[in-house]
Amino acid sequence: MDFPHLAGWSALVVTLGAIIFGAGRRLGREESTQRRLRDDGGQDSAFYWRGLNFLLADEPDKAIEELVKFVRIHSETVEIYLSLGRLFRARGEVGRAIRIHQTLIARPNLSDEHRTAALHALAEDFRQGGFVDRAVDAYRQVLHVDPDHRAALAGLQAMHENEGRWDMALELLKRLEAVTGTPDPRREAHIRVRMGLEVQSSPAVSVGDARAMDHFRAAIRVFPGCVEAHRLLGEALLVLGRPEEAIQTFEAVKSARPSHFFMLLDPLRRAHLQAGDEEGFFRGMQGSVAALASSARLVTHWAAWLEKDGFLDEALEVLTIGMAYHPRSLAIVSPLITLLARRERCQEALEIARRRMDELLAVQIAFQCARCGFKAQDIYWKCPQCHQWDTMEPL
Ligand SMILES: [Zn+2]
Repeated sequence: MDFPHLAGWSALVVTLGAIIFGAGRRLGREESTQRRLRDDGGQDSAFYWRGLNFLLADEPDKAIEELVKFVRIHSETVEIYLSLGRLFRARGEVGRAIRIHQTLIARPNLSDEHRTAALHALAEDFRQGGFVDRAVDAYRQVLHVDPDHRAALAGLQAMHENEGRWDMALELLKRLEAVTGTPDPRREAHIRVRMGLEVQSSPAVSVGDARAMDHFRAAIRVFPGCVEAHRLLGEALLVLGRPEEAIQTFEAVKSARPSHFFMLLDPLRRAHLQAGDEEGFFRGMQGSVAALASSARLVTHWAAWLEKDGFLDEALEVLTIGMAYHPRSLAIVSPLITLLARRERCQEALEIARRRMDELLAVQIAFQCARCGFKAQDIYWKCPQCHQWDTMEPL
């Protein structure tokens, strides 16, 4: 059973629990009601007890059948309708969910709270069914009644993002952040990056357009670790012939997001070339021990560049430092062994290779369950995950 499915079920179980609990309390209070229910309604309540049992036994089709019978008799029970609708949507039966929610909304005596809930559910149905315009419309109706409706704000925001309407996605994100009090700087930064890219891609606009660069700068302000905003801002500065500022922009990632700095090596080198200072690039890189410490990818990238340019000893040094920081990284060990061999330091190469082999063998998975995929070092005659006997095969 997958997750949305499960969420639908648990919502229904909770709703049923609340209804049964409420009914129990009413029964306790009113003797006459109790008698009436026992005499006339015993058949009805049997439907939802059976429904609940099927639900707990993970038999959704039978559960739905019983619950629909119950709903037919207790047609005033809005919560059950809402839960059934959610259940249908979770099972991918969007058409049935839409019908349930539309029928609810059409009721003249529905409370405002229930109407908003049904409208929001309808918006979710339309969204899942791919009816974008109708979903947007339904979300807007919810927000018209309740401007702080978190789920509707989040749903509409996600829709605008998926549709690439970045300015509206940003506006909704700001409203959502104001309501929840929880900022989402990574999301905001990438929306602003997309807004900048949109400006750049419009006709008669160049890469160095000031409005696009403002978007990239805003993205960096809200999330200084946004690699893409740094890259795009730096590239625009290069187009404008301002390589020193581009270098500053790329270099800022070294401290703001050291794990991703390796992604900017290529534009950083181009910026240094444009500034007529290729030497500065190599000097800066050699001094980047802190950045090396945080990223095995930077170590291997930088070493590969050095090796390609013929600086074999420098490459060896970078890899050796890198291995000290990232002792488990095969990406570092592999070129290190090759380089040591190239420098005819075969004994060292062999020693490193043998040590890594031993470490790998020690953690290698030896057995796997052929039925459920459970992996283990030792054999289990009864699989701890799927509880079948004798299903584990050696790998
Ligand atoms: Zn198993």
